[in-house]
Amino acid sequence: MDFDQARYSREDLYEPLLSEKNSTRVETGEGDSPLPDDLTRDSVELPDLSEPELARHYTRLSQMNWSVEMGPYPLGSCTMKYNPSFTEDVAADPNAAVHPDRSVRSSQGTLELLYDLQDYLGRIGGMDAVTLQPPAGAAGEFAGILVAKAYHEANGDDRSEVIVPASAHGTNFASAAMAGYDVVELPSDDDGRVDVEALDAAVSEDTAALMLTNPNTVGLFERDIVEIAEMVHDAGGLLYYDGANLNALLGRGRPGDMGFDIMHYNVHKTFATPHGGGGPGAGPVGVVAELAEFLPKPHVRERGGSYELYDPERSVGKVHGYLGNWLVLVKAYAYIARLGDEGLADASAKAVLNANYLAENVDLEVPYSPFHHEFAATAGDRDAADVAKRMLDYGVHPPTTKWPEFVPEAMLTEPTEVESRDSLDDLAHAFNASLGDSEEELEGAPSRTTAQRIDQTDAARNPRLSWHALDDGEE
Ligand SMILES: *Cc1c(COP(=O)(O)O)cnc(C)c1O
Repeated sequence: MDFDQARYSREDLYEPLLSEKNSTRVETGEGDSPLPDDLTRDSVELPDLSEPELARHYTRLSQMNWSVEMGPYPLGSCTMKYNPSFTEDVAADPNAAVHPDRSVRSSQGTLELLYDLQDYLGRIGGMDAVTLQPPAGAAGEFAGILVAKAYHEANGDDRSEVIVPASAHGTNFASAAMAGYDVVELPSDDDGRVDVEALDAAVSEDTAALMLTNPNTVGLFERDIVEIAEMVHDAGGLLYYDGANLNALLGRGRPGDMGFDIMHYNVHKTFATPHGGGGPGAGPVGVVAELAEFLPKPHVRERGGSYELYDPERSVGKVHGYLGNWLVLVKAYAYIARLGDEGLADASAKAVLNANYLAENVDLEVPYSPFHHEFAATAGDRDAADVAKRMLDYGVHPPTTKWPEFVPEAMLTEPTEVESRDSLDDLAHAFNASLGDSEEELEGAPSRTTAQRIDQTDAARNPRLSWHALDDGEE
């Protein structure tokens, strides 16, 4: 067994169901159930296990999967960084468990925290007002585009199009379309940025907004951003900033200063909440002063030393229950407060340094540079997905593959600021060792993981979420 196998192999892990371990039949008692007879049982089979057996069961299950607490998770665009556990402690404080129906008078501390977070995010993004309500980046995009729409409508301005670069995240297209706009797709120019000439041709009095990610999805800073903002504004349109890549800019550049009018923040990418698996996130939306009256309701404000909820005058309405995903916002608040201005700027510096260090040590071409916090390498004549599957055998999670599409066999890699030099070296080793392996080994990968290659499309579209589905022989 070589070094990698000894350290990482999980292929032999097997864990039976709790019910397959020791269990006992327990009588349920008779007669007093309000349920129909065919829904009740006289007895049930329950696992009969000691605490260590139970703890080991769940720990072993967790070992069969991958997590950011096991090793790096360099999924480009997603910013899968390690989130410090002190933020979890803060969120788990019993005092944080406020009932959302509590009166404003008895939840002043909650409102103060939300108010301060609105303020922090506003200052970080250069925005005048921030709503914390949307529960994800995509939901923030949708809310932000609704704000743009309400603004144009209030001006009696009938606009039908939203411009989105071809390299944008799929949610940008979807959010604009859901808000009722025709989506105009903008090609990238030869160096991977917005094609200013194509933008000039696309912008018109029909343009409601241009949605941009900066640095964009291959990590490039849009150098012409001031000119781009001017072009969109001259045509009466608004500029929307997709904040998923804010990790690269923290404490260094502010979307508001670049000319953006609306932005969302992916709290679960930039500000300490585990991202992925569909868990709760938050996608606050910031806007310039002119758009504040259209923000979702209610909004938190301060009046004479106390905090209150109010409905912005021409609000687009509610976009989530109550005030948003409260405990996710608590974690973001704790993270920002702990890091402070210097800590946030340091995070972005390290995110950019780590991406550049890693790219330098990976035997792959990176067609677009200078990149910031992430880079899109091309696997060349290898299949990016095969290389990625092989990387699992070397004990790391692979990067995002085959996206963005304009990079052939893309491996979009974002190590994030939290990785040490040792762990970046491990990552580079996994890339390079995989690239050195035969075509056959790549196609058969992964072979050292608990589950081997699965049909990803089928797993995403037809998930079997219950053990019974397998029991019933359902395919
Ligand atoms: C993740 C991401 C989004 C969507 O954010 P969610 O919180 O996953 O809904 C939008 N744009 C970019 C560039 C992203 O990486």
